[in-house]
Amino acid sequence: MLRSLLLTIFFLPGLAFLSGQTDSLGYGITCAMRDTAANAYWAAPVAFLNGSAEVKTQFDLIFSEDVPAVAQAAMRFAANVWGSYLDSDVNVRVNIDWQDRDDDRLLASAGPATLFRGFEGAETNTWYPVALAEAISGVDLNDPQDADINVNANSTANWYFGIDGNTPRRQIDLVSVMLHELGHGLGFLSSVDTINENQLSIGFGGRFIIYDLFLETESGLPLTDPGLFTNPSDELLMAVANNDLVFNGPLAVRENNGSVVPLFAPGTFDVGSSVSHLNEATYRAGDENALMTPFLSAGEAVHDPGPVTLGIFADMGWPLEFNLTGTQDARRVELAVFPNPASDRVTVKIPISAENKTLLLHAVNGQQLISQQIPGGQGQFDVELADVPAGMYHLTVVADAVLFGSRIVVR
Ligand SMILES: [Zn+2]
Repeated sequence: MLRSLLLTIFFLPGLAFLSGQTDSLGYGITCAMRDTAANAYWAAPVAFLNGSAEVKTQFDLIFSEDVPAVAQAAMRFAANVWGSYLDSDVNVRVNIDWQDRDDDRLLASAGPATLFRGFEGAETNTWYPVALAEAISGVDLNDPQDADINVNANSTANWYFGIDGNTPRRQIDLVSVMLHELGHGLGFLSSVDTINENQLSIGFGGRFIIYDLFLETESGLPLTDPGLFTNPSDELLMAVANNDLVFNGPLAVRENNGSVVPLFAPGTFDVGSSVSHLNEATYRAGDENALMTPFLSAGEAVHDPGPVTLGIFADMGWPLEFNLTGTQDARRVELAVFPNPASDRVTVKIPISAENKTLLLHAVNGQQLISQQIPGGQGQFDVELADVPAGMYHLTVVADAVLFGSRIVVR
């Protein structure tokens, strides 16, 4: 069954939203898991995997000294997937901590470090997560030494550090969690919060966060319309705890085949999960849009934001590219390799003719040992393994829009 993420939004103490102020402290989302597992893999775009996609937004990942190197590699992979889609002239600075959270079911927490409003290109009276504000304005708005996004990952979670999507059924795919958490930090989050058990608020002091502006009930009532919803109120709570909340932005709708996008809004409001996620029942494990749902299963790897999430980002003002080619077809097919186990070399055979082929060899901890282009037309070729230490590896061939993979043992 499915293992999943449970998320909690919490507000940092000391938040000050003064009327004249144009920046404020951000807030974070905490993710934990439940006892479910799946075997699903949605790969990063082929153009990203084979290195032909340009990383247009640079992510400066600032690791605390105890983040293991293998985890750093997985986190860089996730950041660069976002960086291939998003187009910001300002580097996104991410502070990453690695701490024992005294609970191995807790995975990570993350959020924008700061919110900004009133910059050039901003909607009036609207808060933006700082990375988005900087992408829109083209200006590094906070101190260059300050983080744009904070991520705190749990050092004791049962992580899979590989970047190849071969996530064992009992492990949590770190690339997927990092991609998801960065999604929140980059702007996929609402400001809704509980006042008490009957009332919900939206916005801060009469100003909404950009994501809030697209929230509607299925019947088309915007949550931010003060003529429809008193703020705070029990009507607001009922509106988001009724399984009929949607994101209604033109580009998200376009990417969702013309329909408004169902958000996670269960009958009992969950302060951590509700509103700031796509609806789990609509976008299940293995769906191309599964990344920003509230539940990630053990054994599930989602290495692409998916078109609906990209649509939501574009509606919020993120400059981005929707298609890095081949995303739709990038599914894993078993690869023929022999001999296996191998020593000095292995022969690889792929059953299709493909113009562009890239061969990748990863250790089980995710470290990449080989990345090489294979000349077009060759359906069968040898891979030199003389420099590869004995052990178990994942061999992947990206052939046009198809991913082939196999485990091999080198001895
Ligand atoms: Zn989340």
